[in-house]
Amino acid sequence: FRRLREGLSRSSSRLGGGISAIFTKRKLDDAALEELEELLISADLGVKAATTLTAEFSRTRFGKEVTDEEVRGALAGQIATLLEPVAKPFVPDRAKRPHVVLVVGVNGSGKTTTIGKLAKRLVEEGHKVVLAAGDTFRAAAIEQLQIWGERIGCPVVARDQGADAAGLAFDALEQARRQGADVLLIDTAGRLHNKAGLMAELQKVIRVLKKLDPEAPHDVVLVLDATTGQNALQQVATFRELVNVTGLVVTKLDGSAKGGVLVALAEAQGLPVHAVGVGEGADDLRPFSAEAFAKGLLG
Ligand code: GDP
Repeated sequence: FRRLREGLSRSSSRLGGGISAIFTKRKLDDAALEELEELLISADLGVKAATTLTAEFSRTRFGKEVTDEEVRGALAGQIATLLEPVAKPFVPDRAKRPHVVLVVGVNGSGKTTTIGKLAKRLVEEGHKVVLAAGDTFRAAAIEQLQIWGERIGCPVVARDQGADAAGLAFDALEQARRQGADVLLIDTAGRLHNKAGLMAELQKVIRVLKKLDPEAPHDVVLVLDATTGQNALQQVATFRELVNVTGLVVTKLDGSAKGGVLVALAEAQGLPVHAVGVGEGADDLRPFSAEAFAKGLLG
């Protein structure tokens, strides 16, 4: 929690500082509410959430004197309630063996790193994990995943750069089965500038996996970079056109002042949020907790 709190410090100083500026022993009147709403929008929470949260304040506190402490506490509570339905840490289904997870997202969003961190956590929890270096477009991504695999001690199925990603995914699922793995995490390419090409590639990967297991992939996790702010919302919409996204991981909350975008995402898309990235290190992935996040966001 401390790490999350530190990670969110830029988001929270933006929100907290703004709240202090608005509510230093002041009555909650129309002008204050309007300023609060603007602050929430500028902190990337989105218009809908900002309106809902402000309306709730107006309903319960209008005309009363409030301190910034009270506003922060109440906001944290409201945001936690809003996020609660989407907070669903990833738990592998042992009955699936392997539980196949396709990890998608634009280049640079933190896919490969997230796979490494998630694999580490799952291995520590006693799961047998296999990784597939499915971003066959980039040699660096293949290498990076191999390094993670060595570090964590889990097998990485990889081929040379330029190899067919679907063929690799098929091999990976076969190997994962043979080895009795609990989870197979498959990395993918993120060339969103070639949307048609990416869609064809992802759908081929999915088609081929289904030949071995009609229910695979069991999850399609979209990795989003929080520093892109409102752009992350657009990425969700775009990826949902390409594949059946089942959940999200939001990375780079450390050092981003745009952590509020997670609230906008929850509000607009309603997709489960499995985890958040709060750094580049192996232990910097946190299972997503609505309350911890809301408290971190408000400082
Ligand atoms: P990919 O192209 O989507 O596979 O992205 P990578 O996993 O290669 O990550 C891109 C960059 O973001 C790398 O330098 C990572 O170390 C960094 N990164 C990933 N997750 C986080 C995070 O939660 N916090 C920070 N600060 N950096 C991250």
